[in-house]
Amino acid sequence: MPETSGGKPIGLFGGTFDPIHFGHLRLAEEAAEHLGLARIRWIPAGQPGHREAPRVTSAQRLEMVRLAIAGNPRFELDASEVDADRPSYTVPTLERLRRVENLGASLPLVLLVGADAFAGLPDWHRWPELFDLAHIAVAHRPGFPIDAASLPSALAAIYRQRHGASPAALADTAAGSIVTFAMTQLDISATKIRTLLINDRSPRYLLPDAVIAYIQGTRLYSPP
Ligand code: ATP
Repeated sequence: MPETSGGKPIGLFGGTFDPIHFGHLRLAEEAAEHLGLARIRWIPAGQPGHREAPRVTSAQRLEMVRLAIAGNPRFELDASEVDADRPSYTVPTLERLRRVENLGASLPLVLLVGADAFAGLPDWHRWPELFDLAHIAVAHRPGFPIDAASLPSALAAIYRQRHGASPAALADTAAGSIVTFAMTQLDISATKIRTLLINDRSPRYLLPDAVIAYIQGTRLYSPP
């Protein structure tokens, strides 16, 4: 029997999380509230298919996400892409969630992305099929405006066609809309954090203390 969510959409949040930081956590928390999501499933990428291989193992990135989201009742961890140990692509993951795992065909799913990731959508494997499988919610991110004029043309056309639904309307259909939301702007990136760590500088207050303790204990991203 398909999983239920009290009629509310379920959020899906993928990323390399190399490492996870407060930009990711606020995005998910604010998406849950603003879009009325029942819960958010965090899906750390295995070996990413559309970007460079990350510096640390996928098991270590998974562990950092586990530490960071612990204690938030709305957040849950999905290790399937990490366990698969092959390039992860979002469309096959969504197909699996709908068909193989109990989410069913009619439950509204909302894929969460930052504005930079959204602009890069045309590089994703089978990307036009995303809209058959989920809605997309795009969070504003410092330095990455969301407007049709600055998107690649194939995506701009789809954006014009599918954007404009209210967050409440996401619950009415399983997939197909694009919404944008203005989260608290946090100019934090995993790249910046890795640069701080490699230069032996403090990453404090950019990511959870439990994740910093894990990074220190394992000497991830240490100076060479
Ligand atoms: P890197 O610097 O290594 O590219 P990142 O900080 O962008 O990493 P990812 O794991 O690549 O983190 O991002 C996962 C998702 O989170 C993407 O959709 C990205 O757009 C979004 N995201 C990351 N940081 C922020 C932020 N500060 N504000 C809004 N969205 C963000």
